[in-house]
Amino acid sequence: MITNSIYDVHVKRIHEYKRQLLNALHVITLYNRIKADPTAKIVPRTVMFGGKAAPGYHMAKQIIKLINSVATVVNNDPIVGDKLKIVYLENYRVSMAEKIIPAADLSEQISTAGTEASGTGNMKFMLNGALTIGTLDGANVEMMEECGKENIFIFGMTVDDVTELQKRGYNANDFIAKNAELAQCIDQIETGYFTQDSPDLLKDLANSIRHHDRFLVCADYEAFIKKQDEVSQTFLDRQKWIKMCLHNIASCGKFSTDRTISEYATQIWGVEPNSIRLAAPYEGAEGTNE
Ligand SMILES: *Cc1c(COP(=O)(O)O)cnc(C)c1O
Repeated sequence: MITNSIYDVHVKRIHEYKRQLLNALHVITLYNRIKADPTAKIVPRTVMFGGKAAPGYHMAKQIIKLINSVATVVNNDPIVGDKLKIVYLENYRVSMAEKIIPAADLSEQISTAGTEASGTGNMKFMLNGALTIGTLDGANVEMMEECGKENIFIFGMTVDDVTELQKRGYNANDFIAKNAELAQCIDQIETGYFTQDSPDLLKDLANSIRHHDRFLVCADYEAFIKKQDEVSQTFLDRQKWIKMCLHNIASCGKFSTDRTISEYATQIWGVEPNSIRLAAPYEGAEGTNE
């Protein structure tokens, strides 16, 4: 890994609605751009994925296989060099989150609008000074309200857009046909470009993208790629990037558990705090009772 590259981190359970696949398509797109024009200036990235899949969740395992297959090709291509590196973090868990989240530059929170109840990973990254690329979904909405829309990279369909598209009748192939970069990625997955010793390995994934794209990956692809290009350009402006980080850190107080629990107490449970204050662990056994 090189330290002047964007540490672009996507860690959470592997699920189709969380759209690790959309992020993988961005990585493939960057790879294809480098291959098409090896001398073009690109902002280096180290893209880290981490997370477990439920044992019987076939599509999640196909996505993990795709990421690792792309990583093998990209990381060993001398044309790519240090411009793009892909890491699959094995055994992602809290003790690893404690190390990875503070090291991140960019937090991936890209679920389909209307699918993530809240998310908590998004807040951990914000608190630790990473910038977020995300959809208007779950607590990303409140994060934007707190830090201001100029300090977060929001892209893609809203809940209303999703509803409208579903009503109109969504066909992933319409979006694939209209975008040459997306078409190239899908073709590469379909024809086994990244899995050359078993070309049919990811055929279920390819079939799912074209015919059962329930989480609208293809519909949000173009907006995602555009926003990622903006992230890269912003990263080059060190002052601007750092200022954005500070705005995030300074405005994440709402996500304190103290605020959360006291709202639950008054609004949901209907209980009042009593006058006895329990000791915090660092205060010793008795605590105080002022
Ligand atoms: C916070 C956390 C999660 C939840 O992440 P989301 O992005 O909210 O899905 C999952 N696993 C670990 C280890 C975490 O620390």
